[in-house]
Amino acid sequence: MNDGISRRGLIGLGVGAAALSAAGRTQARDGPVGFAVVGLGKLAQGQIVPGFRNCRNARLTALVSGHPDKAGRIASEHHLPSGAIYDYDNFDRIAADPKIEVVYIVLPNFMHAEYTIRALKAGKHVLCEKPMATSLADAEAMISAAKSANRKLMIAYRCHYEPLNLEAMRRVRSGSLGKPRLVITKMVRQSDQSDPSDAWRLDMRQSGGGALADMGIYGVNGARYLLNEEPVEVRATARTDRSDPRFKTVEDLIAWEFRFPSGAIAQGSTSFDAADEMAFEVIGQHKRLVADPGCFYGGNHLYLWQGGSRTEIPIHEIDQFAREMDWMADVVRGRAPLVSPGEEGLQDMRLMHAILESVARHGAAVSTDGRYRRAVDPAVAVS
Ligand code: NDP
Repeated sequence: MNDGISRRGLIGLGVGAAALSAAGRTQARDGPVGFAVVGLGKLAQGQIVPGFRNCRNARLTALVSGHPDKAGRIASEHHLPSGAIYDYDNFDRIAADPKIEVVYIVLPNFMHAEYTIRALKAGKHVLCEKPMATSLADAEAMISAAKSANRKLMIAYRCHYEPLNLEAMRRVRSGSLGKPRLVITKMVRQSDQSDPSDAWRLDMRQSGGGALADMGIYGVNGARYLLNEEPVEVRATARTDRSDPRFKTVEDLIAWEFRFPSGAIAQGSTSFDAADEMAFEVIGQHKRLVADPGCFYGGNHLYLWQGGSRTEIPIHEIDQFAREMDWMADVVRGRAPLVSPGEEGLQDMRLMHAILESVARHGAAVSTDGRYRRAVDPAVAVS
C-alpha cells in the first residue's frame, strides 16, 4: 500500500469494521475533498500548497491569508478564482462555501485554537498543524468543539503516515528487535530570531514552548508511537543561556527521560541552538533500528543493526504532506480511520507540560497519566 489505502487493506491490517463504519457515518459526498489552507507562511508555501499536486483526492479549493497580494498570487498559480480567497475577518463566511470541506490550519501555534473552533462552527472538518495549541485548555476546547459540531479534528502528525516511520513501528511491533528497551530521539535545529517564522517560535506565549513545542514534539510523539504505550513518569533538565536574546522566554536545550510500563525508557532531546538533526533509535534486546535522519521532509534513512553489521532498509519516499492530506480526505469520506485525532495532540501537550514541570522542579520525577489509550494504532497504515 503506497499512497492508496483500501478498505480491505485496512481491515486486513486490523482496523476494526466498527472503526470504519463509524468513520463512514460522516460520509456525505463522493469525489475529491476540498481544502482551505489557512496561513500562507513557510510551511504552507513550501510544502502544503505544492503538495496538493501529488494528492489523489484532496484538492486545494480556498486560501485564507492576511496578505491579499500574496494570496492572489498563489491563487492564480493554482487556478483558484478570487472568490476562493478569504481573510481572517471574513473567515466565518467559509460556512457558505460548499467547495470547502476541510480547513487546514497552518498558523502560528497560538492561533490554532481560535481558527480550529471557528472552522468547526462553520461546519468544516479540521486538519490542524502540530502542536495543536499552546495550552491544555485550548486543546480540550478544540476537541469538544469537534464533538459538538460532529466534525473530524485531525492533528497533522505527518510521521504517522510516512513509510520510514511506519516501517519502524511495524518492526518494533513484530518483535523482530526483541523486547524494545530504549528509544532515543534527537530533534534539534538552529533558530534565527531575525526570521519572522522563528520569531514567534521563540516567544513562549505564541509558540507554547520554543524548541520543545516545535521540534521536541516529534520525539515525544515518536517514542509513543514506536513503543505503542504511554509513559508513566518523566524527568527532564534544561540548559538555556538567558543572555542569548533568542531565549528570553523559552528554554533552549531540554533532555528528558520517559519511563514506560513495559520497562522501556525513552530519552529525548531538543534544542534551538544545535546543528539540524531529526533522528531516532530503537534498541531492542537483539537488534537496533536507527533512523538518521528519520523525520525530515525527505532523504531519510533507516538502518538495522545486529552485532556489528548494518543493513539499510529500503524505504519508498513519498510526498509526506500529500499523503497526510489524502489520509484526511479518506477520513472525511469514511475510507480511513482517524489515526491522529485531537486526543493524540492533547496527550503530547500533557507530556510536554510534564517535561516543563520537571525542568522547573530541577529534574524531579513528574507522574504522567499512563491511562490514555489511542483509539487506532498508527501502524495500521503499514504497507
Ligand atoms: P510561518 O510563520 O512561516 O507562517 C505562519 C503564517 O500564519 C504567516 O505567514 C501568516 O500568513 C499567518 N499569520 C497570521 N497571523 C499571524 C501572526 N500574528 N504572526 C505570524 N503569522 C501569522 O510559520 P510556519 O509556516 O513555519 O508554521 C505554521 C505552523 O505549521 C506551525 O504550527 C508549525 O508548528 C507548523 N509546522 C509543521 C511542520 C510539519 O512538518 N508538520 C513544519 C513546519 C511548521 P498570511 O500572511 O497568509 O496571513
